[in-house]
Amino acid sequence: MKKIEHIGIAVSNLEEANKLYSSLLNTKPYKQETVDSEGVVTSFFTCKDTKIELIQGIGENNSIAKFISKNGEGIHHIAFEVDDIIYEMKRLKKLGFKVINDVPKKGADNKLICFIHPKSTNYVLIELCQKIK
Ligand code: ZN
Repeated sequence: MKKIEHIGIAVSNLEEANKLYSSLLNTKPYKQETVDSEGVVTSFFTCKDTKIELIQGIGENNSIAKFISKNGEGIHHIAFEVDDIIYEMKRLKKLGFKVINDVPKKGADNKLICFIHPKSTNYVLIELCQKIK
């Protein structure tokens, strides 16, 4: 794993959260993107070598809406950048980590992503992400 690529924060109102994080980080989001496969809309801020991803669910039937109804808003996942997501998924599976999606999927911000189940990582949802070249 190379570095923490971003930290994902679940929000219920992206527009409000964008304003708040723009003030906090003193910069505007560089991208806003809807991820249809996940039913979410995301916005990204650069913070030196890493990023903050704000995520709002669209409607009721998505992981972010479920997360917020269970836990409230807050840190949703930590994403690690990897060079070879297939290799890392195999490596982690062999070690007993529970991978949520068996095949990497297309995530926001031009990435292939995979999630590791929080039950196998001290209840922190971990995302692996690889840049699509
Ligand atoms: Zn993410």
